[in-house]
Amino acid sequence: ASRRAAATIGRALDDIAHMLHAQAEELGRLDRIAGDGDHGIGMQRGSRAASAAAATAIAAGAGARTALHRAGDAWADQGGGTSGAIWGEMLGALGAALGDDAVVDAAAVGGGIVRMKEAVMSYGKATVGDKTMIDAIVPFADRLRARLSAGDDLTVAWADAAETASVAARATATLTARLGRARSHGDRSLGTPDPGAISFALITHTVHHILEG
Ligand code: ADP
Ligand code: MG
Ligand code: MG
Repeated sequence: ASRRAAATIGRALDDIAHMLHAQAEELGRLDRIAGDGDHGIGMQRGSRAASAAAATAIAAGAGARTALHRAGDAWADQGGGTSGAIWGEMLGALGAALGDDAVVDAAAVGGGIVRMKEAVMSYGKATVGDKTMIDAIVPFADRLRARLSAGDDLTVAWADAAETASVAARATATLTARLGRARSHGDRSLGTPDPGAISFALITHTVHHILEG
């Protein structure tokens, strides 16, 4: 089961890297409005490195934990910036929750997503309403957990949570940034969604396609 989980993780990271390559220009445009404009290139580079690192680890027989740990380190290293560090933390936390050998079922994924959310919040010290990716992650994790507790299967629960993340990410346009580099230009961000929240939501949709396939 763990080998299959690692293979799925490898495929997801590959698809995420392709998606972020295609979205890099738009994510950069969003970050240029109130930040420093590097969110697209950072996410593109980070995810490409993460996908390559996971592929190498999986080819050598790594399980989910090891593959995600290597991917997270590569993302932080090559992606740079706040988002690179945070995605590094998130993938590491997800890997720690899934483990190398345990069966990865819907409950394990639900628990792993909660650990990911907690990792971002303790790393970045931001909270809901600060206009960061947390404004997409928290509703995503909460909805996933609620749907799984209600007995939905993982793909159905994930689809609903991903849609929730998209709505929440778009809704960050109504917030004023209080943290990070966007802070000094806070008012300029009004009317534009947070780039990190948008990229998070896009990633959840890419993972949904993997779960369906
Ligand atoms: P940088 O801000 O270093 O240039 P990026 O542009 O790649 O890095 O990423 C910016 C994104 O990082 C923001 O849109 C926001 O979603 C996220 N972010 C910034 N600070 C925090 C924080 N303290 N906690 C969570 N996410 C954050
Ligand atoms: Mg930036
Ligand atoms: Mg930057």
